[in-house]
Order: sequence, then structure tokens, then C-alpha cells
Amino acid sequence: MDEFPAERSAIVTGAGSQRGIGRATAHRLARAGWSVGLLDIDATAVRSLAAELRSAYGGVAVGAGADVSQSTGVADAVAEVTAELPPVLGLANVAGVSSATAYLDVDDDEWDHVLRVNLFGMHYVIRRVVPHMISAGGGRIVSVSSVSAQRGGGTYSKTPYSVSKAGVIGLTRALARELGPHNITVNAIAPGPIDTDIMGGTLSDERKAQLTADLLVDRVGTVDDVAAAMNFLLSEESGYITGQTLNVDGGLYMH
Ligand code: NAD
Repeated sequence: MDEFPAERSAIVTGAGSQRGIGRATAHRLARAGWSVGLLDIDATAVRSLAAELRSAYGGVAVGAGADVSQSTGVADAVAEVTAELPPVLGLANVAGVSSATAYLDVDDDEWDHVLRVNLFGMHYVIRRVVPHMISAGGGRIVSVSSVSAQRGGGTYSKTPYSVSKAGVIGLTRALARELGPHNITVNAIAPGPIDTDIMGGTLSDERKAQLTADLLVDRVGTVDDVAAAMNFLLSEESGYITGQTLNVDGGLYMH
């Protein structure tokens, strides 16, 4: 592919929550000219976001309900949205759940759920979207990991979350290698503390101050900080970057 076609689409998972990274990413991409397919366990939320994006930016926007931890449901939802979308060149893998339970108290169900949503879910979506990218001549995959993968937690979520997000980095590197010959780049973003509701509810000013104490930038991150990085890594001009993890974390972790 010499250059991205004007009519192109990105799939965004986890776009349902009102104050989340997925929603901000969907807005950022639609504003940049992408048509978008939105997947979330909350079907009503992504359908209504799709309508909002169509009226704000034009272009195609379509939402479908999917529990990303269920392989068959993911296949159905990807087929549903791609049927209406222009060629798919982008995937923003954002859907995820937190897990703040101490290791010795984590039961099997919680362990399995966190791994299934945060890691298997990304794999299930990637596997269904990649054939569309190959048909389109290439693409960009960006999956949301976390600084918790690199620091072993330390902000809110604990062990199964860190394990799942470290898995996302391994998945990213392995797929960068395997999908490179198809002209597909594969990268991860590792956010630090971002002002959303995933860390046990909306952050109070006191919690924001605590979370900021270890940072080099004197504030918690915003969803737009992550959406801007996502927009860059999904863009045509990021084509020489693959297999990387970009920390959007206010300097919390340097590697
Ligand atoms: P959020 O809770 O607002 O968003 C998570 C989204 O995933 C929601 O829309 C939710 O409905 C969806 N989701 C959850 N389970 C799902 C499932 N089984 N199938 C489909 N969709 C499902 O939180 P957020 O902060 O926007 O999180 C987005 C991503 O960023 C997550 O992967 C999270 O782990 C990661 N992250 C967040 C932070 C942070 O500080 N907010 C830091 C590092 C990484």
C-alpha cells in the first residue's frame, strides 16, 4: 500500500463507557477522517456513540455489542460492523477490566475473567480483523497495555491485571513479527494513571494527588492524551514503528 485510502475504517473496542479511553479514541479517529466500527459489551452505548459520531463528523460509524472474551461473539460482531464499513486498516484494542484484589484472595473466576477479557479478548478481535487488513493491503494494530505490566501494578490493579497486560506486550511483539510481511504494524500503548472510572470509580482530587506523586508530569493523564497517541500509531505516518510499547504515563516508567 503506497498510501492510506481516503475511505478507510478502524475498529475500536471498549468504546462504550462515557468517560473512557475507547470513546475518546473513537472521537479522535472519526475527527481524523476514519470511519469507525465500535465494539463493546454495552451494545446500547456503542450504537448511540456511533449515531453521535455520524452526525458530528460524517463518515460511517457503526456499533455492535460484543463480549470480547467470547470468540464466537467477537466473530459475529466483527462481521456485523465490517459489512457496513469501508476497508478496515486500523484496530484500536481498548476493552479491558481492572482487578484490585490481593493475589492470595483472587479466586479462579476472577483470574480467568481478567485474562479472558484483557488478553484473550485482544487476540480474538485481532484474529478476526487481520484478514480484512490483509485484503486492504495492510494496516495498524494498537492494543492498550498498562504501565502495570512493567511495574507489577502499583497504581490500582494487581497481579492478574499485570499478567494480562504483560501478555498484551508479548502478543504485540509476536504479531509485529508475524504480520510484518502483510504490511501490518503492531504496537501497544502503556498508559499510566488516566482519569477514567476504571480504578474503582471516578477519581477524587485526593486520589489524583496520590497518583501524581510518582510522576514527572504534574497531573494524572486524560483520555485525550491516550487518544492522541492512538491516533498517531494508527496513522499512515507511523509505518516505521512496530513491535513497540509507547508509554503515555507522565514519566512513571522509563525503559
Ligand atoms: P473504562 O472502564 O472506561 O473502559 C473499559 C471499556 O471496556 C468499557 O467501555 C467497558 O464496557 C468495556 N468492556 C469491559 N469488559 C468488556 C468485555 N468483556 N467485552 C467488551 N467490552 C468490555 O476504562 P478505561 O480507563 O477507558 O480503560 C480502557 C483501557 O485502558 C483498558 O484496557 C484499561 O485496562 C486500560 N488502561 C487504563 C488505565 C487508566 O488509568 N484508566 C491505565 C492503563 C491502562
